[in-house]
Amino acid sequence: MDPFGRTIDYLRLSVTDRCNERCLYCMPENYRPWTQRGDHLSADDIVRIAATATELGFRKFRITGGEPLIRPDIVDIARRIWDLAGVQTLGLSTNALLLPKLAEPLKQAGVRSINISLDTLDPGGYQHLTGRRLEAVLAGIDAAAAAGFECIKLNCVLLRGINDDQVLALAEFGSARAMPVRFIELMPLAPGGPLDDRHFFSVAEAMARLSRHDALDPATTKPVGHGPARYYRLRRSGGVVGFIGAVTCADFCADCNKLRLTADGKLRPCLGRHGEIDLRQVLRAKTGDTLADAIALPAAILEAIANKPEHHGFAEDFEMQRPMVAIGG
Ligand code: SAM
Ligand code: SF4
Repeated sequence: MDPFGRTIDYLRLSVTDRCNERCLYCMPENYRPWTQRGDHLSADDIVRIAATATELGFRKFRITGGEPLIRPDIVDIARRIWDLAGVQTLGLSTNALLLPKLAEPLKQAGVRSINISLDTLDPGGYQHLTGRRLEAVLAGIDAAAAAGFECIKLNCVLLRGINDDQVLALAEFGSARAMPVRFIELMPLAPGGPLDDRHFFSVAEAMARLSRHDALDPATTKPVGHGPARYYRLRRSGGVVGFIGAVTCADFCADCNKLRLTADGKLRPCLGRHGEIDLRQVLRAKTGDTLADAIALPAAILEAIANKPEHHGFAEDFEMQRPMVAIGG
């Protein structure tokens, strides 16, 4: 339980800050990924942190990045986390480019649900936003469907003047495949690039756009997942859409249940605040005192829970210190 009565039992594990796309909203134009291999936590480090988290009551885990599938040991990491006693769900977020090769091994390793970024169905728009080909992503989505995950969700970051005309097309694409589509408000996590406040498009506007075509009924059951989306069922098509109003929804943080581990070993109590606890340092430090060494890691995780703020600081002159690609979405 954190100081605001929220149960914290969900850990997002970023396994790399590298990516094979360069989404305008996530990776600043001049971003240079960490070059030193030693900057990234090893598979053993990640599994040790996840195991300690399970001992503290964490039950839900999601692997993310950067693009987690570019890590050569990703299937091994997923399997080792799934095998930990106490893990109830394991999800993974990806841009889908490498799913044709990896969907089946990840399913076998224990991954239950997959979230896939898909911001537009327009090939030119996709190329502009991400630097890659839409066709390759659609092949990855098909591979995920064929592998039979419990749930596949599609994530779209809303961008005025760039993809706000895609809301209906994406909802229909998801409905046809029984994949919930989540519309996410742009957070200020890739500064210095071409996107700014003028591109912000709220979830309320997206809902209004959709409801001109189909009625939105609040969903009575939530798709598999533990995030902050509010879900609705489209009355005519039967599809499910979710809205993540990180910036405009006043009660967005009220049910927050998670911590985030960055690929360089920093534990973040909140996406929109800068407090971080350096777990890599804790893992590497050896005091010689066996008891002190044994309790250092659980103590650091408990400290992050105790440090969780009541709400993020996006509305309070938030200045990005780490871009999204280096935090983990
Ligand atoms: N590479 C994977 C992917 O694209 O899904 C996983 C990492 S990505 C950082 C995770 C999620 O963060 C994606 O759904 C992405 O759309 C979202 N995201 C990235 N930057 C964002 C921003 N500035 N505002 C809101 N969501 C963002
Ligand atoms: Fe890469 Fe995902 Fe960020 Fe796009 S959103 S740059 S795919 S990490």
